Amino acid sequence: MPSPAASATRKLFVTTALPYANGPFHIGHIMEYIQADIWVRFQRMQGHQVHFVCADDTHGAPIMLKAEDLGLTPEQLIAQVGASHIDDWRRYLISFDTTHTTHSPENVELAQSIYCALRDHSPSLIDSRTIEQFYDPVKGMFLPDRYIKGACPKCGARDQYGDACDACGSTYAPTDLLEPYSTLTGARPELKPSEHLFFRLSDPRVVGFLERWTRETPLQPEVFNKIQEWVGGSAAAGGTKLNDWDISRDAPYFGIPIPDAPGKFFYVWLDAPIGYLAALKKHFDSGAARRTYASETRSFEAFLADPAVEQYHFIGKDIVYFHTLFWPAMLHFSGRKTPTNVFVHGFLVMASGEKMSKSRGTGISPQRYTELGMNPEWLRYYLAAKLNDRVEDLDFNPDDFVARVNSDLVGKYVNIASRAAPFIQKHFGGALSAALVEPDPASATGIARGARDAIAAAYNGREYGRAVREVMRIADRINERFDQAKPWELAKDPARRIELHEVCSDTLNAFLALTYYLAPILPATAERVARLFGRAWPLAWRDVDTPATRITPYEHLLSRIDPKLIDTLLMPENPAPQLSPAKAEEDAESRADAKNPTISIDDFTKIDLRIARIVNAERVDGADKLLQLTLDVGEGRLRTVFAGIKSVYDPAQLIGRLTPMVANLAPRKMKFGVSEGMVLAASGDGPGIYLLAPDDGAQPGMRVK
Ligand SMILES: [Zn+2]
Repeated sequence: MPSPAASATRKLFVTTALPYANGPFHIGHIMEYIQADIWVRFQRMQGHQVHFVCADDTHGAPIMLKAEDLGLTPEQLIAQVGASHIDDWRRYLISFDTTHTTHSPENVELAQSIYCALRDHSPSLIDSRTIEQFYDPVKGMFLPDRYIKGACPKCGARDQYGDACDACGSTYAPTDLLEPYSTLTGARPELKPSEHLFFRLSDPRVVGFLERWTRETPLQPEVFNKIQEWVGGSAAAGGTKLNDWDISRDAPYFGIPIPDAPGKFFYVWLDAPIGYLAALKKHFDSGAARRTYASETRSFEAFLADPAVEQYHFIGKDIVYFHTLFWPAMLHFSGRKTPTNVFVHGFLVMASGEKMSKSRGTGISPQRYTELGMNPEWLRYYLAAKLNDRVEDLDFNPDDFVARVNSDLVGKYVNIASRAAPFIQKHFGGALSAALVEPDPASATGIARGARDAIAAAYNGREYGRAVREVMRIADRINERFDQAKPWELAKDPARRIELHEVCSDTLNAFLALTYYLAPILPATAERVARLFGRAWPLAWRDVDTPATRITPYEHLLSRIDPKLIDTLLMPENPAPQLSPAKAEEDAESRADAKNPTISIDDFTKIDLRIARIVNAERVDGADKLLQLTLDVGEGRLRTVFAGIKSVYDPAQLIGRLTPMVANLAPRKMKFGVSEGMVLAASGDGPGIYLLAPDDGAQPGMRVK
């Protein structure tokens, strides 16, 4: 990789893996976007030209079948999911230049042309073979392995998938299953012959190329070793473990038609990575590339063919096979440049060690995270502090998350500005001392600026954890110096005014340098700091040493995490149908009547009843019974509660009144948002619902007991 110290402008084409368009992101997706985004933002700060693109991966049987289940067309499903992906990218501050979809004219054109180029080699790299595959006679389609179940041929356990047995661990082919059935219809699948197209990965030309590409690419050692295992014996020795790759699927299939094979479509994994190029093509054809970099006037094809353009793919360790074998081979044998490198990361796991993914149902929902009002920069910072250049899993430890954000990020970094800036405002009208144009290397500013190249090298090498540790080490030293100088005492002594000015100016210049270093991770906070110091946004790395002359009145930069939010975030979501609050109350009541139970005072005190002020009430679009209430429970933040009282209350009447609420009810995710508690109302057999109210004098936050 070219040295970051080189002054030449690098031209970078960067992608993340394409998310499958069958559902919302899980936290593992978000980690990868954050990892790539930090790298891209850092490169842009260096003045390099970055084209950072992504697309939804939209084809294949799972999307076709899921759309059918939902009563949608595949196009409708991928449009809905695509919109949720775009929302999440925006919320997590992921700065893609262009996003696209593999279900696009660009991708059809590119996939078909790459296929034709592979086919037209002499001898051809595409082979046609008849294979036998399970077919669902009721559904009228060939079944992907994941839609076939049966009894394990080894131990007889029932309802096992077509590749491996959960009960005894043995692996086998779907055709080995006893009493196989289609999970789509329950029908017994029939073996049926079908002609499939294969990319001849085992061809000596391809194996020889892969050996060379693997050698010449600065892959991570873990990735290099994995490829050695897969490729096996050398091309020269005439042996390889690589199998040819089945790239066709029979209709019905939601995908891209194969040009010379009616009724056949490309397997989704063929056209998915081509989506990288399709997104880049859209980026160029739409004029976005030229709008970002006026000097970039070339066509997509000319840009992509330029040997000086570096091409990087950020991916997870589960898709290394596709990105280090199929993808470089497809590019090379269709006459294109191959990736400069593939940056592989591990999984994000809970401290318990379980992989976080939507399918496993564990971990943190990134949608819930933002619905709870949690700041995406907290997560960006925490993940950055743990990320490195290795293919290892990262554990999400909730206590560590809170500690790093509250103690390090806010307690050390933000703290510097909130302590020093008020002195400059109060005593010097916002003007910083000019004595720091050439700071002493031992000053706070000198120490902070001295770390510039080491931190740049850490970012460029994807060692974000190292960069964050270095920033926090410097923040400690800046805070120590500030404490030792005791500016609060200097401020009382008019004779030491210059000293006060220099100490605070030095501290703030050092803080500004740290802001440059954190800007790739915390773009929103860094932009606020840039505004405080009158700096142009986006920040350029070369300006780290430019002294600040003024600071506008300090504005709030970043809050701490309320640890209670973490409990809410981690709580398993209730998979049962959601009851409206009114219905839930009703059910609880009828259960109580039936059993006529008594409870102890301890049981009662478990319920945290509090007085709340209704600061806002409004109707909820699409909800027949609910009002959305915004409540002040005297805790320094507002809560949202959905209450089933729309039929009897005009929202305007409710605003300002007090009412008791259950403050420690587990937050509940409802269709319209998260409800963080329950207000109390009386009702009988008739239609009326009567909200309770305390006597005069009660205040928000008071306990009801
Ligand atoms: Zn078994």
